[in-house]
Amino acid sequence: MTISKDAVVTIDYDIRDEEGKLLESADGELMSYIQGSGALAPGLEKALEGKETGHQMEVTLAPKEGFGTRDDELIREMDLEDFEDSEEVSPGLVFHADLDGELRFYTVMSVEDDTVIIDGNHPFAGKTLIFDVTVKEVRDATEEELEHGHVHGEHGHHH
Ligand code: ZN
Repeated sequence: MTISKDAVVTIDYDIRDEEGKLLESADGELMSYIQGSGALAPGLEKALEGKETGHQMEVTLAPKEGFGTRDDELIREMDLEDFEDSEEVSPGLVFHADLDGELRFYTVMSVEDDTVIIDGNHPFAGKTLIFDVTVKEVRDATEEELEHGHVHGEHGHHH
């Protein structure tokens, strides 16, 4: 079957930047998603529409079609004492917080004395991304999967 709305699609992929540097690779951990659920970058979902198992392609996504543009407002300063476990705070630490009415992932950029600079932008925001994608499987979603909005079983959600 071809990929269309509500199909469960399993893909193998890697993501490079414009210089060809590898940013992320499925690396054997295939990913499954439901077409039309918004789980993938919008441009990638669009490129996969109508494709079949075995299809392999390269998709270049501008930030707008990928993980969005960078928002400088999401770079913030916090006091080290605001962190519950201040000894754990170091560059690269990722945490989940609601600082402006929306729950986001923040990455600690730097720690200088008692000041912590954090960035709430997606690490791929503002980048043009080149996806190398292979469609491994396409099947109908079960009713339960559509109800939950995610894929069950191998490469999917476990609960
Ligand atoms: Zn579920």
